[in-house]
Amino acid sequence: MQNVSGTRDLFSDELKKVRLIEQRARDFFTKLGFEEISTPVIEYAEVFVKSLGETTDIVMHQMYSFLDKDGKEVVLRPEGTAPVVRFYINLQVERPKVKFFYVGPMFRRERPQKGRYRQFTQVGVEMFDYPSPQADSYLVFILSEFLKNLNIEHMIQVNSVGCPKCRPSYSEALRNYFSGKPLCGDCQRRIDRNPMRILDCKVDSEIVKNAPEITDFLCEGCKNHFLEFLSFSKNMLDEGILSVNPRLVRGLDYYTGVVFEVFHRSGGNAIAAGGRYDLLAQFMGGKPTPACGFAVGVERLSEFVNLEKAKRTGVFITSMKETFGESFKLLKNILKMRSDGTIFEFKNKNEILGELIKRVDINLDLTKSLKSQLRFADSENFRFALIVGKRELLGGKVVVRDLELSKQEEVKITELFE
Ligand code: ATP
Ligand code: MG
Repeated sequence: MQNVSGTRDLFSDELKKVRLIEQRARDFFTKLGFEEISTPVIEYAEVFVKSLGETTDIVMHQMYSFLDKDGKEVVLRPEGTAPVVRFYINLQVERPKVKFFYVGPMFRRERPQKGRYRQFTQVGVEMFDYPSPQADSYLVFILSEFLKNLNIEHMIQVNSVGCPKCRPSYSEALRNYFSGKPLCGDCQRRIDRNPMRILDCKVDSEIVKNAPEITDFLCEGCKNHFLEFLSFSKNMLDEGILSVNPRLVRGLDYYTGVVFEVFHRSGGNAIAAGGRYDLLAQFMGGKPTPACGFAVGVERLSEFVNLEKAKRTGVFITSMKETFGESFKLLKNILKMRSDGTIFEFKNKNEILGELIKRVDINLDLTKSLKSQLRFADSENFRFALIVGKRELLGGKVVVRDLELSKQEEVKITELFE
C-alpha cells in the first residue's frame, strides 16, 4: 500500500531535522515573549475562502474540503494565519496586544515535487496590535536571527503591496499591461478580478518580468511606512541579506503594506514568507487591528540543516538464560528512575546514572552470544552496556562497559542506584 501522493513518512535524520527546527522555534520564540497557540487541523471553509481570496491558488485549487454530515463545508487548514485571527478575535477585548507562535501541519493539494508537499509543517508567528514599521523590521530581524541560529545562509526580499487606497490605480496599470498577453487560463480570469495575483503566477513568470512596479503607485502612507521599514531593517539586519523586489506579491490576498520572502543563499523555493495584514481581523469580524506575521516551511528549511554527529546515549542491558530475571530487575529499577530525581535521590550523579535515565533497552533473544549483544548495543549507539553475568551477580555486581572508550569495570548494583 502507498501513502497519499505528496505526503511523506518522516524517519531517522529527516525527522530529527524537522524536530530540531520545531524545538529551536519553541525555545526561540518563547524567549522573545511569543505564546504558543495550537488551533485545530480542520476548520470551516469560510475561515479561508474570503480571507485568503477567491482568486488565490489555494482557494481555487488546493484546499482539501468535504461536506460534514450537518452540511457544512470543512477543510484541512492550508495555512495558519486565518485560524489564529479567528481565535484572536475572541481574545482581543481582553488582550488586544498579543504575540503568538504556532507549529503544525498544513495541507495543500499542490503538484508534488521536491520541497512541495501536500502535507507540510509550518512554524509561524503573528503579532497583533503592532502598527509601526519598526514592528515589521523586528519581524524580519527575528526571522533572520532564527535562521542564523540554525546556520542557514539566507536572503530576504521585501516589498509593499499597498492598501485599498493605492491598489486601484496599480491594478489598472496591470490590466493595461496584461490584457492581450498570452496568459494561462487562471490568469486570464485574474485580469479583471485581481490582476496583482498574476505577479505570483508560477506559469507566466516571463510575462510578469516587465510588468509595472507597485512602487510608483503607493499612497503617501504606504510609501512612508515602507521607506521607514527599509531604513530600520537595513540597520538591524546583517549586510547583504535584504533586497527590494518591487514585483513581489504574496499568494494570499490578506496582505497590506510590507511583505517579504526568504530564500536560501543557494536559491530554490522560498523557505519562509510573511508580511503585514492590517485589515484581516476586521474583515473576519473583529475590531480593526494592525498585525503582521510570517511562516517558515519546516521541511524546506530542513534540507539545509545539519545535524550534529549523534552522541552515544543510554544503556543496553545484556541477558542470558540463567540471569534473565536479574537483568529484568535492573530494567525495572531503571524505569523507576525519573530525570527529576523524584524517586531516587542521586548522591553521586555520575555519568552512568545520567545515561541510565536517558534511554534503556534489554536483550530479548536468549540464544544470542554476549559478543553479538555487545555488537548490537554498539551499532545502536548506546553509551554503556550493563553485562549481567552469573559470577559477578554472586558478589552483587554487574560489569559496566563503556562502549565509547571500550573500557569496563565491575560495579555494585546498589551503587548504580545509589
Ligand atoms: P510557494 O511560493 O513556494 O508556493 P507560498 O507562497 O505558497 O510558497 P506561504 O503560503 O507563504 O507559501 O507559506 C510559507 C512557507 O511555507 C513557504 O515559504 C514555504 O517554505 C512553505 N510551504 C508553502 N507551501 C508548501 C508546500 N506545498 N510544501 C512544503 N512547504 C511549503
Ligand atoms: Mg504556494
